[in-house]
Amino acid sequence: MKWKTRKADLEQITEKVLRAMRGVSSPLIQPLPRSSRKTSQQDLLLDDKLDVPLILVAHDLSPSDMLQFKQSVFAGFVTDVGGKTSHTAIVARSLDIPAVVGARLCSQLLRQDDWVIIDGDAGLVVVDPSPIILAEYGFKQRQGELERSRLSRLRHTPAVTMDGQRIELLANIEMPDDAAVAMNAGAVGVGLFRSEFLFMGRHGKLPNEEEQYLAYRRAVEGMQGLPVTIRTVDVGADKPLDEGLRDDAHLNPALGLRAIRWSLADPAMFLTQLRAMLRAAVHGPVHILIPMLVHASEIRQTLALLDHARVQLDNRGLPYGPVKVGAMIEIPAAALTLKVFLKYFDFLSIGTNDLIQYTLAIDRADESVAHLYDPLHPAVLRLIANTIAEGHAQGKPVSVCGEMAGDVSLTRLLLGLGLRSFSMHPSQILLVKQEILRADVGKLKVWADAVLAEDEPAKRMARST
Ligand code: PEP
Ligand code: MG
Repeated sequence: MKWKTRKADLEQITEKVLRAMRGVSSPLIQPLPRSSRKTSQQDLLLDDKLDVPLILVAHDLSPSDMLQFKQSVFAGFVTDVGGKTSHTAIVARSLDIPAVVGARLCSQLLRQDDWVIIDGDAGLVVVDPSPIILAEYGFKQRQGELERSRLSRLRHTPAVTMDGQRIELLANIEMPDDAAVAMNAGAVGVGLFRSEFLFMGRHGKLPNEEEQYLAYRRAVEGMQGLPVTIRTVDVGADKPLDEGLRDDAHLNPALGLRAIRWSLADPAMFLTQLRAMLRAAVHGPVHILIPMLVHASEIRQTLALLDHARVQLDNRGLPYGPVKVGAMIEIPAAALTLKVFLKYFDFLSIGTNDLIQYTLAIDRADESVAHLYDPLHPAVLRLIANTIAEGHAQGKPVSVCGEMAGDVSLTRLLLGLGLRSFSMHPSQILLVKQEILRADVGKLKVWADAVLAEDEPAKRMARST
């Protein structure tokens, strides 16, 4: 019975969201104060309704909903559920959509026509703000714009520390056209192209080889000779292919048929993707990245299928390019058995979002345990530090492509732990670069070792800032 109630709720919400996205009035639409120039609610209410940005308040939104969001009538959204590193939140950040996720009862407490400020940085929803609060947020907004224009001067500055260490700053992208945004932010390549977004919201009809090839090629050409790391499809858990295909059947989808497990379960689908990637490599440097590997047998199967994809292309007389192949280190078991990964792969990329989730047993999409999701837990830091050290000892590049890479409060720590390659949303690159330009990695290493030895590294971090 409980299931039925939930299903009905979901259907109702989905219907309302879809109506709202098509621009049809619905009880979920809330107006947002449009401009910081306004000083009172009375002034704001005088606005032409159609001219006022709207925000969407919903129980839940899926990552694939984000892809249509920019074309919708909404300027931002608030959801009851979700964590800061849920995929919905990640894509919202990457598309620069103001959002707060995990606001618990928001969809029940907020009413139609409430005035709302979304403070995505602080994770706050301010309802019916007073004129003073409005003015304060207006000021913050202007400060943010000034800061962005100041930082834009760093775009062409090489990311080199004060003691001469060159740091690689790469972009995370979701769609091929994001390559232009990455270039504009001064990225020196794409460290993570989440290819699953090409597979989502298509009612289960997966993209064929040609469609994928053209999409990957567009990203590769968009990066104008800089490397593009395309991750093989990572669906499952909080990234269902379609909202209707959400994995409610399994008790714990985060531990289920996700990422490479899903790909290996459907070799024909996987081969199609591998062929498309290999063909795109004719047009520029392509690295293939494999998510969520943990067993040596999965590694061998994956590489055998890659060889088979090459043979299939040979048989069809289609050209393909050379690729580097890397593994994501995002399950503790992988981080603890790096030898086998370093034997087979050209590079490693640490997926801290999942590494934290699986190390600490915290569902990254569950707001009720979000306070325990801790990038600074000593176990997490140790796994990251060891992966960097072991990778470099074998002469293999190691990158971080999870949200930690773009968190400027962690840049110095990651540099101190030996990281030399960061991949993040394009909008975070310049802020992180500024931190790098001020860093001395020689000194940071000593400090990072001390942080690593702490029982509660966060306290040590707080003391040193
Ligand atoms: C990660 O897990 O850190 C990662 C980059 O992959 P995703 O967030 O897509 O799971
Ligand atoms: Mg991951």
